[in-house]
Amino acid sequence: MRRVHRRTLEICIAFRSQPGTVIHSASGPPPNRILAALPRKANRRFLAALKPVELALGQVLYHPRTRSLYVYFPNDCTVSLLAVADRASGLEVGLVGREGMVGIPLALGAPGSPVRALVQGAGSAMRMSSARFGRELKRNRPLQRSLDRCAYVAMATAMQIAVCNNEHLLEARLARWLLMTRDRTSSDRFRCTQQSIALMLGVRRVGVTVAASALARRKLIRYARGAIEILDAKGLLAASCSCYAVIQGIETA
Ligand SMILES: [Zn+2]
Repeated sequence: MRRVHRRTLEICIAFRSQPGTVIHSASGPPPNRILAALPRKANRRFLAALKPVELALGQVLYHPRTRSLYVYFPNDCTVSLLAVADRASGLEVGLVGREGMVGIPLALGAPGSPVRALVQGAGSAMRMSSARFGRELKRNRPLQRSLDRCAYVAMATAMQIAVCNNEHLLEARLARWLLMTRDRTSSDRFRCTQQSIALMLGVRRVGVTVAASALARRKLIRYARGAIEILDAKGLLAASCSCYAVIQGIETA
């Protein structure tokens, strides 16, 4: 049974739940931070146009260079942004959780996403049609300001991850990725497979197995039955490359 935070619950009720959306409890993960920060009275119409949806692990929200029908504000799910070249799998250049929005290019006037958006951690999100979102954005200054900042964070994060992928050892990159996922889910435990992590980091699965085993031997993480648990966040921070702190600095600047 899924749990939804009190604020999320309020939003979900206010926004009329869609069929299939599961709301069972007033406790649980916090709602999307962009939405939570909007002045509620002045944004009543915008907020009412959002629909709560459940996103499944592995669901593809955007295919590169195709028209995007919706934008998403994650509550407790995580979405990987994958740059795709010739090979089909792609390489992660961004990871969006409750602090952000999936669909920034649309906010900038592009018809679609340049990257593949893949649900990396299942959970809930608020969704709006791209067309409606475009209209709402034009007359909503607080939302524009918030998304301008989001666009900057996404761009700067993508640049840092590009350097990270090229410069840093896999074990340190894995520690960085785990910490970023922890921040975006507000949880020390999340479902993922070594195959999916390999995809995100653009390496072979065996490389992830070796790196994860090294972190586990140091008692920083535990991996069992398709889930990773962070046992020692401080230790994992020490094992991470400097990119984690750089990206945190970008987000909080
Ligand atoms: Zn790095």
